[in-house]
Amino acid sequence: MTTRSEREKAQKLNEQHQAILSALLREDDNKFCADCHAKGPRWASWNLGVFMCIRCAGIHRNLGVHISRVKSVNLDQWTSEQIQSMVDMGNSRAKQLYEAHLPESFRRPQTDQPVEVFIRDKYERKKYFDKEALTTAPI
Ligand SMILES: [Zn+2]
Repeated sequence: MTTRSEREKAQKLNEQHQAILSALLREDDNKFCADCHAKGPRWASWNLGVFMCIRCAGIHRNLGVHISRVKSVNLDQWTSEQIQSMVDMGNSRAKQLYEAHLPESFRRPQTDQPVEVFIRDKYERKKYFDKEALTTAPI
């Protein structure tokens, strides 16, 4: 049984989480989808720590939960660990990691099929990944 104070506590926590997510979405690098750069992402992969658009969120879902765990910023309930993961990573740090070896001349795909290929290369095959990127990058 849930008591009234427990419900109120849960609601408060949810409001705090929403406030943190809104603040994160106001940061420059989180204003665009981590994968296709579409404006105003409202979805996230909390284990990867990136914000993304609804189309890329659908592609992430297809990767499976062992790679990406997708949530809606506004429609889903978040746990404190999930929020922390977004705070710790975010699109700009994720870019340093997962796009470390992305060629400068690379043209980011915009249509569904090529975006899916790119997302699979990026997170499933880790084609551009460099785990040292974050430790060696200047702050
Ligand atoms: Zn996208």
